[in-house]
Amino acid sequence: MDKKMRAWVLRDKQQMFLEERPMPVPKDDEVLIKIKSMGICGSDLHFYTDLRIGDYATNGNPLIVGHECAGEIVAVGKNCKKSKIGDRVIVEPGIPCMKCDECRAGRYNFCHDMYFMGTPPWDGCMCEYVAWPEFLTYQMPEEMSWQEGAMIEPFVVGLQSVRNSGIQFSDNAVVLGCGAIGLMVIEALKAAGVGRIIAIGRTQKKLDLALQVGATDVINSRECQDVAAEVRKMTDGWGAQYAFECVGSGETFYEINNYVRDGGTITYVGLMVEDGAPMPMASAVMRGLTYKTMIRYTNLFDRALILLKYKRADLLPLMTHQYSFEEGDIAFKTALNDKKNAIKVVINF
Ligand SMILES: [Zn+2]
Ligand SMILES: [Zn+2]
Repeated sequence: MDKKMRAWVLRDKQQMFLEERPMPVPKDDEVLIKIKSMGICGSDLHFYTDLRIGDYATNGNPLIVGHECAGEIVAVGKNCKKSKIGDRVIVEPGIPCMKCDECRAGRYNFCHDMYFMGTPPWDGCMCEYVAWPEFLTYQMPEEMSWQEGAMIEPFVVGLQSVRNSGIQFSDNAVVLGCGAIGLMVIEALKAAGVGRIIAIGRTQKKLDLALQVGATDVINSRECQDVAAEVRKMTDGWGAQYAFECVGSGETFYEINNYVRDGGTITYVGLMVEDGAPMPMASAVMRGLTYKTMIRYTNLFDRALILLKYKRADLLPLMTHQYSFEEGDIAFKTALNDKKNAIKVVINF
């Protein structure tokens, strides 16, 4: 008889139910992980409210969401080499093919055959057990909590954006937007040794958190008359060398051009789900701006663990809410409806 597990299943917009599912059986190169903590991501919320992000749509099929998780290994496939039962691991949620051009070039975030946890048609980790390729699991340091483990994936997004931007320790940066991703970018900039980090946001509570996790200056755009002038004042009249857009709205995609100096670099980190927002391309050409975008990440989970082990960053201040597994739907409603207070909502199993 097949063993069963419990899973939260998204069946319609904002309709998630605790159901029984067959327990996964690990293949030879996979480990079976008992999930201990899971973080709710902005993308999970998109699926929760719209049942789609761009081309990734549920098309009426049930979906288990979630891709930010940490757990304990409870079974090991026979070809696994490094894992044993009882190991505490985090999971890299995308499975690339490792055979195509891009995978072989080390840019596996562009693999066309990527299987991504919790993105339709693939189920996620909001369930008791997940079978996952061993090579995409990473051992947690002993002292690390399950909750911090479950927050590493968005930190890796921050690390990728900072690495991809080309910023050096002596440069300065503006971060526009202080939600979970903006704060993760700030954590990553700090870990990279960047001296001056200017955070711009609209909620004082989040700006206070930005200062706590590594921003050197904050600007509350609700109160400040001229944010661009303020940024210039903080950067010897120039504007920032690097800027990171972490909201994902058409308005902020445009706005961030005002905060960077001529010759500067803007990285778009925020997830924008539709084309059509205007961009100031004529002046961008005259000003010699560089635009960068990024999707997901490559080869950073093990490095993130080292940064956290040696306290170059601390993710726990970003965890504003915790719920039990049984309260999964309440956790989602909080993350969705309490945007002022909720940064990272974590579910403990
Ligand atoms: Zn995520
Ligand atoms: Zn590939």
